[in-house]
Amino acid sequence: MSYKSLSYENTAASVIRNLEKRNMTGYYCATKEEAREKVLSLIPEGSSITWGGTETMTQLGVFDAIREKNYELIDRATAKTPEESRALYAKMVCADYFLTSANAITLDGEIVNIDGNSNRVACIAYGPSHVIIAAGMNKLAANLDAAIARVKTFACPPNAVRVGASTPCARTGVCADCLSPDSICCQTLITRKSRHDGRIIVILVGEELGF
Ligand code: SF4
Repeated sequence: MSYKSLSYENTAASVIRNLEKRNMTGYYCATKEEAREKVLSLIPEGSSITWGGTETMTQLGVFDAIREKNYELIDRATAKTPEESRALYAKMVCADYFLTSANAITLDGEIVNIDGNSNRVACIAYGPSHVIIAAGMNKLAANLDAAIARVKTFACPPNAVRVGASTPCARTGVCADCLSPDSICCQTLITRKSRHDGRIIVILVGEELGF
């Protein structure tokens, strides 16, 4: 095992202990393949599953895997009209499992997410019975200030490009603390504790994933 892998394991163990203090559950998986199997092992057959804003789960191959299994999938991308999208969102908030990632996680176990539309942060905060968050070790940050700086520096500019937002960061790669109509930074959610036992599960992955 490389020094980096060993160090990742040590760091992940510390973060997992800090998540547990906050009534959240954590696991560490060294590889994408292990992480995908871990996600699947946590979701009983027949469960309803939905998701939001997660490049990481795509990179793990979770979406391909769940489509081959016996789950009820609630996919808002299938909506053809704003009314259908809203009706599907009503089902999403009552799903058994919400799959997502984090924009950053502090070493002390706080989870940081910044959203434009904000359906993702809403479902993390309240609604689905369980939330499974997968995050590469590149998402870790020393503290909350560093976490927010990480999101604004490394997550938002590529996300703005990905969604075609007309924002300063999409054009220059640098956050200008904008208030533009397309801003993808409308809501900042800091999950510092879960009140509901077993609801929030974090899977740290020993690879660089998402952004
Ligand atoms: S505040 Fe505006 S410029 Fe800064 S990261 Fe968010 S969308 Fe981009």
